[in-house]
Amino acid sequence: MSASKTTYDPNNIFAKILRGEIPCKKVYEDDFVLAFYDIVPISPVHVLVIPKNPYVSFADFTANAKPEEIACFMKAVGKIAKDLGIEEDGYRLVTNIGKNSGQEVPHFHVHILGGRQFGPLG
Ligand code: 5GP
Repeated sequence: MSASKTTYDPNNIFAKILRGEIPCKKVYEDDFVLAFYDIVPISPVHVLVIPKNPYVSFADFTANAKPEEIACFMKAVGKIAKDLGIEEDGYRLVTNIGKNSGQEVPHFHVHILGGRQFGPLG
């Protein structure tokens, strides 16, 4: 089954955060988007940006979200990074999709990673 066809699990941890069942350290929120600090940061700045609607992955999101929602999401990622103060020095965006990537939480999310120098991908 392709990542864009995988069934959404409403009991995943980010769904619980969205329902307020689990707390998070919120960074940003609007009609479509929630952003919060990662519980196990791998860099001085490590924020997760998620859509409020239920998409399993980037593949599901880009295949099935409305263009307006995709645009709002992308603009929010840029604004959040800027507001976090990491735009000038630069930052890395990561989104894991499915098994080969090691995606742990099956709700689409983008990692904003900043505050240190990263090595090459690979
Ligand atoms: P993935 O591997 O799916 O791309 O990343 C999932 C991320 O979610 C990991 O970096 C992990 O530390 C983070 N995470 C897992 N559970 C929680 C939680 O309960 N709260 C927060 N804030 N982050 C979480």
